[in-house]
Amino acid sequence: MSTNRADPTATDATSTPAGKPAGTPVPTSDEEWRTRLSPDRFHVLREKGTEPAWSGALLDVHDTGLFRCAGCGTALFRTDDKFDSQSGWPSFTRAVADGVITEHQDRSFGMRRTEITCATCGGHLGHVFPDGPRPTGMRYCINSLSLEFDPD
Ligand SMILES: [Zn+2]
Repeated sequence: MSTNRADPTATDATSTPAGKPAGTPVPTSDEEWRTRLSPDRFHVLREKGTEPAWSGALLDVHDTGLFRCAGCGTALFRTDDKFDSQSGWPSFTRAVADGVITEHQDRSFGMRRTEITCATCGGHLGHVFPDGPRPTGMRYCINSLSLEFDPD
């Protein structure tokens, strides 16, 4: 447990230990992401993949807590805002805070959808649809593979 923070101009950065905790800089290359993420997570987060419906590990979460980005650890959703959409993917009515998610128009597959990504690392999360329940009327439809659950 070192408490000294070295002068960044005086240290060499030639070795980067593996398995660094959240809060480390976001990778800038696919090679770095591949060392950090499992192949499944890499496909969804970095290649905008979609996990099969009903396959996600986070569909049934009974504890309360936070859902964090599996790429960078940023808190994105809370269990309070999770609802059973019957879509086969974890669904939320809103993000945990303004600005943690970025929206993009997605015209792929001949559909007009709104893709959502993590604002911190750019990882693909899923899509948001205007057909959710109250109070927001929005349905954030998210891949389990894009998230990690952090119980309270
Ligand atoms: Zn992220």
